[in-house]
Amino acid sequence: MGFTGQCRCGLVRLQLQVDTPAPLYACHCLNCQRWSGSAFALHMLCVAQAVEVSGGMSTYSYEHEGQTSTQYACGSCFTRLFNETTAAPGMRVVRAGVLEGAGQLAPMAHIWVKCKQPWFVLPEGVAQWPESPTPEAFMSALNG
Ligand SMILES: [Zn+2]
Ligand SMILES: [Zn+2]
Repeated sequence: MGFTGQCRCGLVRLQLQVDTPAPLYACHCLNCQRWSGSAFALHMLCVAQAVEVSGGMSTYSYEHEGQTSTQYACGSCFTRLFNETTAAPGMRVVRAGVLEGAGQLAPMAHIWVKCKQPWFVLPEGVAQWPESPTPEAFMSALNG
């Protein structure tokens, strides 16, 4: 399944390929609420080589529990586009809201739901965890 996307100003464009069902999930943690300025963040977990990017980007890196996370944003309008972490080498987590048509897909999993905003009602039958799941449980939920 292929997607195209872009930042708010259009300087940076993305093209990516993922398996079906699309590995889309929602993170309700407080940092995702801050980063997104919204109730939760929508992420698509991608193999790094399957994400092509054009346009000038700015990066922001930070350390967390001995790992380095690097965030990639448009260098002009600062839309956050994806991140990489040394905890999961070879992967990119794309901010799904920048992708055309991703709004038609329902997330396969919800994580950090203990921090979710109380008005948001989780859909029944969808995988969910109070915090981060184990990588094995998470991958099994994303693979449908
Ligand atoms: Zn931009
Ligand atoms: Zn989060």
